[in-house]
Amino acid sequence: MSFTMHGIGVSRGIVIGRVHLLERNQLEVTEYTIPREQVNTEILRLQNAITAARLQLRTVREHIPRGAAEDATAFIDTHLMMLEDSSLTQEPVRLIAELHCNAEWALKLQRDALVAVFDEMEDPYLRSRRDDIDHVVNRIQRILLNHAPLKHETLEVRLKDCIILADDLTPADTVLLQHHGIAAFITEYGGPTSHTAILARSLGIPAIVGLHQARRYIRDEEQVIVDGTQGVVIVDPDEALLAYYRQGQERERRYFAELSKLKEAPAITADGVAIELQANIELPSDFEALHRVGAKGVGLYRTEYLFMNREAPPDEEEQYESYRDMIRQLNGIPVTIRTLDLGADKTVGNGQDRPVAVNPALGLRAVRLCLKDAALFRPQLRAILRASALGPVRLLIPMLSVVQEVNQVLALLREIREEFDRLGVAYDRNMPVGGMIEVPAAAVCADVFARQLDFLSIGTNDLIQYTMAIDRVNDEVNYLYEPLHPGVLRLIRATIQAGEQYRKPVGICGEMASDVRYVRLLLALGLREFSVHPAALLEVKHIIQQTNLKSLSGLGVRVLACSTGAEIAAILADINSPPAAGAAVRVN
Ligand code: PEP
Ligand code: MG
Repeated sequence: MSFTMHGIGVSRGIVIGRVHLLERNQLEVTEYTIPREQVNTEILRLQNAITAARLQLRTVREHIPRGAAEDATAFIDTHLMMLEDSSLTQEPVRLIAELHCNAEWALKLQRDALVAVFDEMEDPYLRSRRDDIDHVVNRIQRILLNHAPLKHETLEVRLKDCIILADDLTPADTVLLQHHGIAAFITEYGGPTSHTAILARSLGIPAIVGLHQARRYIRDEEQVIVDGTQGVVIVDPDEALLAYYRQGQERERRYFAELSKLKEAPAITADGVAIELQANIELPSDFEALHRVGAKGVGLYRTEYLFMNREAPPDEEEQYESYRDMIRQLNGIPVTIRTLDLGADKTVGNGQDRPVAVNPALGLRAVRLCLKDAALFRPQLRAILRASALGPVRLLIPMLSVVQEVNQVLALLREIREEFDRLGVAYDRNMPVGGMIEVPAAAVCADVFARQLDFLSIGTNDLIQYTMAIDRVNDEVNYLYEPLHPGVLRLIRATIQAGEQYRKPVGICGEMASDVRYVRLLLALGLREFSVHPAALLEVKHIIQQTNLKSLSGLGVRVLACSTGAEIAAILADINSPPAAGAAVRVN
């Protein structure tokens, strides 16, 4: 019997397909003692399980799809090395022999002892390596308990065209799943601006998050319809529903084919004002999308991808080579490279992440982390500066709270430049350095930042999170995630005004700029630079073309005087009607 479930649609598109349930259940380990005469058999059982674990990992390594980032394989090598280490191969054997405990228990005791040592470590990076122990021990435990290995991670199954159903997915999971060619995903937790949701949009994978209890009601292999636009999942659909959604798929296909005619058209309003319309990228696959939609610039290159699914951060050379290759691919298109924004929901997996803080979103993330960890930050700054010699590059600092952070980054850059001058290393002396306005205090004092920097970029995903005091990945408070809250809009306006005052460009690279409902509002607030995910670029361009800026005069003042987001939404519904998306496409 068919039924419907509602979640939060975070990446548009309709997919009809079979569900693949992604298990990541905690293992229940039973502890018991064994008779003396069975000790050798128990030791053999453990040793066989370790051998099987090695075999599994080697098979995974061989089957990683061609084209997958090299770093996607690096974690497997480390786990293989750990499986050779005596702390896992010898110590549990000793415990079985001495304590007569079963293999699972011995392994658990040894895991606890190792984790305790790692927990004591001063170095946060080493401390975080305890996750690797858990991954490896879990793999052996699963074999001892006759559980199948985690499928997406082992890459042993074909997930192509499957609809993944999981409790939650990390950004690192999402990248691995992308290599499998999944068609869509549904998760029980998560919010629309989580990093995972943003990745889904930029990869063009339809996705729904916050679908509570989904794993209770949807079975593995079941046929479902995923409507990522509406946030709806229809389980076991009948023929009438299938026919209806197939028509929907066809309508979407025609709509996008029509939009693609705008690829070469300029982003100019109906009354002739040119708007800077750039794209956000973060994965190598985004380049293809970027060229497909004819983006004339990259307004935000998130560099976290380089750090994902690997054991250690990339060194300066590797980062430089990656930026160099990107600049070559961009072929003269300007790019804004954002320095590392790790922390909070931006985890990279495989032991590189720091232990989770009580309030990770308010903790050591982005520029705070980088300034604390020079060994992490310096190589990136050096690599970006070197890359600036090869094409038009801007450097962007995420999550600024106080202007001292700007001063510290500028001082580091000065030092590196001096060293490069001494050594004769080429770089662009005029590389613009900008900052992201994502923290309310920075938005209120945007003039202070505008004075020090060459440009500002508003990160609305975080600005909304911090203004509304809600975790952007927590679906329970998602109802408060309100881009139209007058408080948020006033901060955006204040930042744009600060840019106007100091003649410094101000853009928005948060998801709000990609939402077609807000384009006219942002234009009315004075925004002239949008950086959007490639999948939204042509739609945003279409609306810009359909907008007469003069007709928006007074809208900003009117909206900023409203008391609630609902009032503002009603005004926007009016000015967006008839929906620009339905209007004819203008190609020049
Ligand atoms: C933002 O916060 O709006 C932004 C663009 O940065 P991220 O989503 O990567 O945190
Ligand atoms: Mg941000």
